[in-house]
Amino acid sequence: MSARVLVVDDIASNVKLLEARLSAEYFDVLTANCGTQALEICEHAECDIVLLDVMMPDMDGFEVCRRLKSNPKTHFIPVVMVTALDDPSDRVRGLEAGADDFLTKPVSDVVLIARVRSLTRLKMMSDELRMRALTSREIGIQSPERDAVADTGKGGRILLVDDRPSSYERLAPVLATEHEVDVENDPAEALFHAADGNYDLLIVSLGLANFDGLRLCSQARSLERTRHVPILAIADAGNNARLLRGLEIGVNDYLIQPVDKNELLARARTQIRRRRYTDHLRDNVQNSIEMAITDALTGLHNRRYMESHLATLAEQAAVRGKPLALMMLDIDFFKSINDGHGHDAGDDVLREFALRIRKSIRGIDLACRYGGEEFVVVMPETDLAVAGMVAERLRHAIATEPFAIEKGTKRIDVTISIGIAVLDRKGEPVADVMKRADQALYRAKHDGRNRVVAAAA
Ligand code: GH3
Ligand code: MG
Ligand code: MG
Repeated sequence: MSARVLVVDDIASNVKLLEARLSAEYFDVLTANCGTQALEICEHAECDIVLLDVMMPDMDGFEVCRRLKSNPKTHFIPVVMVTALDDPSDRVRGLEAGADDFLTKPVSDVVLIARVRSLTRLKMMSDELRMRALTSREIGIQSPERDAVADTGKGGRILLVDDRPSSYERLAPVLATEHEVDVENDPAEALFHAADGNYDLLIVSLGLANFDGLRLCSQARSLERTRHVPILAIADAGNNARLLRGLEIGVNDYLIQPVDKNELLARARTQIRRRRYTDHLRDNVQNSIEMAITDALTGLHNRRYMESHLATLAEQAAVRGKPLALMMLDIDFFKSINDGHGHDAGDDVLREFALRIRKSIRGIDLACRYGGEEFVVVMPETDLAVAGMVAERLRHAIATEPFAIEKGTKRIDVTISIGIAVLDRKGEPVADVMKRADQALYRAKHDGRNRVVAAAA
């Protein structure tokens, strides 16, 4: 999935330089030569990250950043300030304006790509959450955006993992001016401590005397209870390779020793703010959606949710110029399963079918029970050829593995028919794509069932 980067600089040669490097890494690059134009683009195009020059004549980068971050429509776009200045007070000014990171000119290639990758990855994850939350709001659940824009990022719970007294004795009191801080100076205990403590932020020193701080970061990323807790790493100067490794394994941000106090506070606030926002989205999605829009029998989304979310997905696909595939699945002769083995057996088959659908799709795909024994899967950024492969794999997974019924005492063969269609024309109504998938499904039934049929694009 290629992320879209907006490069903003008033000097054309700077824009060209960044554009060339990013394009070489297959990023999709947009450019702007002033703040006003940048704001305009962010409002109307989907950007995954903004690289923002600080010194510009019409409106400086700080102001552009402040406006992006205070607008509910754009506040979740990560902003990286690109500056010739490398003074901690400028960095703090930028962070205060809401910037997510800094790059100093001349920008090193490796650092540029690493930062853009890690920030866009994060953004795409929260996009997915945000879209789902948006959908839930459309069906009557309140907005997390307003709270996010107002959040100060203070009053968080922080775990500082550092075994060098010279370092933690300096950092902990600074953090304590705005947050609740626990210091863990036994790195072997840190993971347990982090998992139990319900923290908003982990600050991990990569220069631990007796432990590999990166290992700790990677463990925290893989553990369910700490997976979503942001990590701010503190690195010793001159160890870029370790830092990059850290960003690759999911460290969210870093500071270099000796740490500037204001910068530490500003970066901690940014991470905590973002953590609260995504948590909020996650709760929002979980609580309300689970109850209102989940199908009780299979645990998949229900039709109502799918239909409203589909509109959002289609809109995004259109803006990004990416295809969106839809598959409609229907169990063959399901009525005879009910008739021959009873309604409960039919229910078992539906549950197991839902499980197999889940196993064969990606996390960003949306599966729902459309009605009775009919299911729909929506696959972003998927063309007809790939959708056909996914459908065929799923058809095979159903047909070759009998379904257990009557508490596992019996097994019966089940087959399904699938119709697939792709939304690849800008502005095509989603209802039309649904209709084409449905017609393809009808053909699959008509042609003998247990097969996949693709609608003509
Ligand atoms: P085809 O191959 O043409 O799809 O035939 P079919 O028998 O699968 O299709 P039909 O539409 O004739 O029958 C669907 C059946 O699914 C009828 C309905 O009673 C049953 N059904 C719908 N919802 C449920 C449910 O929640 N549980 C059970 N056990 N059966 C259900
Ligand atoms: Mg400039
Ligand atoms: Mg059927």
